[in-house]
Amino acid sequence: MDNTEIADRLETFALMLELAEANPYTIRAYRRAAETIRSAPLPVEDLVRRNRVRELRGIGQGIEGRLRELLQTGQIAELAELERELAPDLVGLGRYLGLSAKRSIELARTLGVRTADELREAAASGRLRDVPGIGAKTEALLLEALARDEQPLPRQGLLLNRARDLVGAIAAALGGEAAGDVRRWRDSCERLAVVCAVAEAEPVIDRFAGLPQIVALLERGDRRAVGVTVEGVPVEVVAADPRRFGTALVRATGSRAYVEALEPLPDGPDEESVYRALGVPFCPPELREAQFAGEPPALVELADIRGDLHCHTTWSDGRASVEEMARAACDLGYEYVAICDHTPAVGAVRGLSPDDVRRQGEEIAAANEVLAPFRVLRGIECDILGDGRLDLPDDVLAELDWVQASVHGGQRMPGPEMTRRVEEALCNPYVRCLSHPTGRYINRRPENALDLERIFEVALEQRVAVEVNGLPPRLDLSGEHVHDALAAGVEIVCSTDAHSVAGLGNMTLAVATARRGWATATNVVNARPLETILDGRRAG
Ligand SMILES: [Zn+2]
Ligand SMILES: [Zn+2]
Repeated sequence: MDNTEIADRLETFALMLELAEANPYTIRAYRRAAETIRSAPLPVEDLVRRNRVRELRGIGQGIEGRLRELLQTGQIAELAELERELAPDLVGLGRYLGLSAKRSIELARTLGVRTADELREAAASGRLRDVPGIGAKTEALLLEALARDEQPLPRQGLLLNRARDLVGAIAAALGGEAAGDVRRWRDSCERLAVVCAVAEAEPVIDRFAGLPQIVALLERGDRRAVGVTVEGVPVEVVAADPRRFGTALVRATGSRAYVEALEPLPDGPDEESVYRALGVPFCPPELREAQFAGEPPALVELADIRGDLHCHTTWSDGRASVEEMARAACDLGYEYVAICDHTPAVGAVRGLSPDDVRRQGEEIAAANEVLAPFRVLRGIECDILGDGRLDLPDDVLAELDWVQASVHGGQRMPGPEMTRRVEEALCNPYVRCLSHPTGRYINRRPENALDLERIFEVALEQRVAVEVNGLPPRLDLSGEHVHDALAAGVEIVCSTDAHSVAGLGNMTLAVATARRGWATATNVVNARPLETILDGRRAG
């Protein structure tokens, strides 16, 4: 068994444990082990045989035992049993149709069906109503959903990082390219698609149906199929003739409105040739929302970013020390990083008092000794109190290199009050940037009732930047709001708000979101050299 096969089995095991509501730590341990094995440079089968597999990170005694069992018997007995019991394809289909995992499992037992196709048959022959708790109304809804032939969409958009992982893994397994909302870096992804260039479609679609991520097929056509994950998320695969791969990629990337305006699309082996034949300049996927056929601006790129101005450490709720975060930022090729831990008003987690800020300053100075010429900036993510005052006195803020101001508590304030509160904070002379301006949490919490137009006016006057926060559930400002901020003349900062070393990687999401707002490098504060950051808004 090669590493990919082994990793796939462990990943499926993690999924089944999740359905069985097992301990989340165990589930995470299997996921991590799968990742490690997937990227291991040596054949894991050999390592197991030579009793050396535990030298791999995240593989302990328990997982070693499972690996041994898998390699000796060709299966993991508990996994086989869980698969029998839980009918993952039915759970996936059920979730897609709006049933909980538990309900789907009940349904499978009552009807004695094992697969998605058997469920379809049972539904067609009117047997759904034999299931306690399924009335005529639910039956009608399920039948309608099973028969739908428009593009299937998940019930709720996926966060961008989750969608990218899912679609990326499927694309890699099929040797195809990620398309759909993921390729346009939408903040919440509904249309998930992979496009492959293949002369023969069938083998690719078979391979797609057999992937561990895909538990059932919702549809299967000649050159396309739609599968569903165990979470009920539909993913489309397009097996394009290589001569028309570019055309298929443009179509599957969307958005629908953007593509419709370009139709009819000529055939082309790659996107460049399609655009050339249309006589339209190539358009970066991030800009393919509304109809657009003009010359796109030179959008900001990850390589333009010279530092991260918002990250946390163990001083507040981060998981790494000042030096660990700084080293990691340095390794990313940055020139600087600002350590911005919380202040006490944040509530739920530890916040820094004036005294803490000064002690942290000593630690930052020590890190600078070691890492020079890389520069660790003394920053803070200072809470904006209910009345617009800041959570630290001005004399403390004055010592710092970079001050982010944030609303955390009291977010349900009425609009005029919230707007006054934030305006007041922006007028503090030490504030350089407004963090996650709208306070939204995608799928969980709406935007604060803030008058952004007014906030952008004040930000421009006060020469305060606004953040594009790269945390996947935030992505705040959104692309649309970035566009508004830039139109108002306000500068942006692309930040990760990282709480761990890995979190620094979310800069790709912040930059992509800025690109969706048509930002160029000149609009982005942290695309500028250290001196500009240190000069500050008053002196500059
Ligand atoms: Zn925050
Ligand atoms: Zn933060």
